[in-house]
Amino acid sequence: MTSALFARSAGILSEQLLEKSVMVVGLGSGGSYVTECLARSGVGRFVLLDGECVEADNLCRTTYYSGDIGCTKVSAISRHLQNINPTVAITPFETDLAGVGHKRLAAIVNSVDLIIALTDDPYAQSRLNHYAYYYNKPALFAALYRGAEGGEIIICIPGKTPCMECATGGVREALSRPDADIDYGTGRLSAEPAIIADIHHLDSATVKLALSLLQQDRPELSVSKFLASALAKKLSYLCMSMVPEYWVFPEVFRNTPGQHGYQSMWFTVESRVGCPFCNSSEEREDPSNFPLSPPKIIMQESNKI
Ligand SMILES: [Zn+2]
Repeated sequence: MTSALFARSAGILSEQLLEKSVMVVGLGSGGSYVTECLARSGVGRFVLLDGECVEADNLCRTTYYSGDIGCTKVSAISRHLQNINPTVAITPFETDLAGVGHKRLAAIVNSVDLIIALTDDPYAQSRLNHYAYYYNKPALFAALYRGAEGGEIIICIPGKTPCMECATGGVREALSRPDADIDYGTGRLSAEPAIIADIHHLDSATVKLALSLLQQDRPELSVSKFLASALAKKLSYLCMSMVPEYWVFPEVFRNTPGQHGYQSMWFTVESRVGCPFCNSSEEREDPSNFPLSPPKIIMQESNKI
């Protein structure tokens, strides 16, 4: 039955994907869709990590059903994946990333072929970036901009591309990227209005990049060429617009006829001098020296307004 998953993708994907393992961190509007698409594409092994339960207001822009409400997102997605491919292997973690200790996270990262970071917790994204480079594993970091009018995917391949921190500290700052709002109570990005069509536009690109990354050892497959040709041009940071006239896109596409919403720009990222994550391996810092969650700032009595 599993071979039927590849009946419509001959020459694009290979059955080798059944043996590939992907860690997905965050099973919200991005993670739920990306994970299911990868299973339908034939990826056979997943490590799933999310500490939340499905709520009614998740249904408008995820792949959850009303019957999933109250279940953990990990258990609900695991059910969906088994309905797509009964032989799929799932290692579930019903916790956020801060609930996974250093030794266990190191073991997980070492066991997978690809990390996909789709969490709304910036500290978790940073931690995954650190582990990915320290243990030499590729990772994709996908994030939406305000209202899902735009978004970004950072391709991180140790030894080939600079890390997520170098990308966000370089390209994002240079172009005054439109950051999403941070909820300062939790340190997470605030949930805000956005529609499934815009969110899934970025998710679809994440799926294609993931498949391309997982098939880099099969250059004859057409999906493999998608990422390979970008890497050959040193392009590792993709920005997308879902609406017309978004952010810096009008400036870049000025005088180009026939432009409207759904544009993309690919950037080259430079490694920061002395980056503790992606510089030469002697300079890299052991991620187990870092706290599992950001240190809490306690206001002094005299500093309170
Ligand atoms: Zn770096």
